[in-house]
Amino acid sequence: MEKSSDGLKVLVVEDSKVTMKVLCNYLGRMGITPLASETGAEAIDIYHREQPDIILLDAQLPDIDGFDVALKIRALEKAADWTAIIFLTSMSKDEDLARGIEVGGDDYLMKPISEVVLKAKVRAMQRLVEMQRSLVRVTQQLNAANVKLRHLSATDGLTGIANRRMYDELAIREWRRCERMGKPLALVMVDVDHFKLFNDKYGHQAGDECLKKVADQVGKVAPRATDLAARYGGEEFVLVLGETDTDGAKWIANRLRQQVSELNIPHYATDSRHVTISCGVASVVPDEKLALDTLLKSADHALYRAKKAGRDQVGAGVYGAVG
Ligand code: GH3
Ligand code: MG
Ligand code: MG
Ligand code: MG
Repeated sequence: MEKSSDGLKVLVVEDSKVTMKVLCNYLGRMGITPLASETGAEAIDIYHREQPDIILLDAQLPDIDGFDVALKIRALEKAADWTAIIFLTSMSKDEDLARGIEVGGDDYLMKPISEVVLKAKVRAMQRLVEMQRSLVRVTQQLNAANVKLRHLSATDGLTGIANRRMYDELAIREWRRCERMGKPLALVMVDVDHFKLFNDKYGHQAGDECLKKVADQVGKVAPRATDLAARYGGEEFVLVLGETDTDGAKWIANRLRQQVSELNIPHYATDSRHVTISCGVASVVPDEKLALDTLLKSADHALYRAKKAGRDQVGAGVYGAVG
C-alpha cells in the first residue's frame, strides 16, 4: 500500500518551466499538488503565507539565489515549525552540495531529476516532518505537565493553598523586598483551637473537611499580590504580609478569626461551641542584622500567648521576644 501524502504541503521553487512541469507531474503522481514559484522573492512570500512542509528549491534562480532563499527561510522559521528543504541542483561539485547543507538545506536532488529518487526523498522528508510534528506535540504535553508539576509541588495536597516549601521560598523573597524598600514585613501564625479534640470527637475525615474550610478563609483574607497564605504544617497556617506593620497584621488576623468563627463549624470543646482559631502576629522592618526566622519565632510566641490567654484571639508580639 502506497503511503498517503494527505495534508503534505510542498512548495516547488524552479525558474525553468520545463523542470517545473516535470516536477509537478511527478508530485501529482504521488498525490501531491504543489505550490509553485519561479523566483526566490515569491518563494519567501509563499513560505510566510503557507508554511509548507517541504520546499524543493532550485539552487540557481534569476533573483535571489537558492542558497540565500534557504538562509532567509531558516532565519524566519520559529523553533516549532521546521520546513524540510531539498535543493535542486545541476552542479556536481562537492563544495556546492556542502554549501547547500551549510545554509540550512536538508538534502539535494541532482538534475535531471529522477522520479524514483524524488519520490524516495520526499517520502524520507515526510517521515522527518511527521517526527518533528510529534516532537512538538510531545514537547507541548511535557510543558503542560511541567506547569502542573510546578503547581503540585507548590501547593498543599489537602487544602490547595501554598505549602511550606512555597513559604520557605517566598517569605525570604518578600523579606528582602521589604528590606530594600525600608518597609515592615509582618507574619501571622494561625492555629486551630482544640483541634485534637475536634478530631477525637468528630473523626479525622471531618477534621480534614474543617481544615479545608479554614484554609479557604486563610487563602482569601490577604488579597494583595505580594501576600502569601500557606499551610505551615498540621493545623497551622502562616500569612506573609509585605509592607504591613503590627496594627495592619492584627487587623487582618482579627478579620480572619471572625470569618472562621462565622463558618459556624460545631465544636463541643471551645467556649463558643464552634471552631475558632488563635493567631500570633509580629512585624519588623527587615535589615541585614535581623532574621526572618526570628520574626517567625516571635509570631509563634505571640500565638502561644494567645492560646494561654484563652484562645479565639490575636496576640501581638515584638521582634526578638521569643520565649
Ligand atoms: P491548641 O488549641 O492548643 O492548638 O490545641 P490543639 O489540639 O489544636 O493542638 P495540638 O497541636 O495538640 O493538636 C493538633 C492536632 O491537629 C493534632 C492532629 O491530630 C491534628 N492534625 C494535624 N494535621 C491534621 C490533618 O491534616 N488532618 C486532620 N484531620 N488533623 C490534623
Ligand atoms: Mg534555475
Ligand atoms: Mg498546633
Ligand atoms: Mg491547635
